Amino acid sequence: MRMKQSPACGQGSEERRTVETPLGPMEYRLTVKQVKNLNLRLRSDGTVAVSLPRRAPRSAADAFVRDRADWIVRHRQALQRDQGAVLPAPPDPAAALPVLAASLERMYPLVEPLGVPRPVLRARFMTSRWGSCHVAKGVVVLNTALAAAEEDLLDYVTLHELVHFLHPNHGAGFYAAMDALLPDWQVKRRRLKGRRLERP
Ligand SMILES: [Zn+2]
Repeated sequence: MRMKQSPACGQGSEERRTVETPLGPMEYRLTVKQVKNLNLRLRSDGTVAVSLPRRAPRSAADAFVRDRADWIVRHRQALQRDQGAVLPAPPDPAAALPVLAASLERMYPLVEPLGVPRPVLRARFMTSRWGSCHVAKGVVVLNTALAAAEEDLLDYVTLHELVHFLHPNHGAGFYAAMDALLPDWQVKRRRLKGRRLERP
């Protein structure tokens, strides 16, 4: 799993809107597009993006944002806390391994019923990835730096690599599996994205 996700590609025309919420005025970017349902995303820069189905009125998007103001504020705070936060220097691989192995123990039961064979775990410090997997060899490699991260972020990366045993690429099937197994994985991805690594 690479540390930097490719940037969101060219957003179509976005409309800036501001809505009054119980927590004060909130600005968001509205895109009207071919979607079935309203959907709201918090981007890594903290902006709120809402996609509105073509037939729905703009007031529906306003109400949607108003109803989620509390969620938005909380997640924005978490985002700011994590942006640029430096992970403590990673422990050496021998010390990191038990921490990473415990994560594998927590996450493997999620994919075991789907027929994923138990992989062998390796720990390594890497500067450009959080983890990787070698499906044919049955090996998952996790970055030792994750041993110093919050447990839920470590678990998210572990699961990401395990899901590759079902879907080798980042196709629709991969993300559908992530959605099913860890519904808030995108929040964790965003938190992880802001992290910088300190060399051991
Ligand atoms: Zn991946």
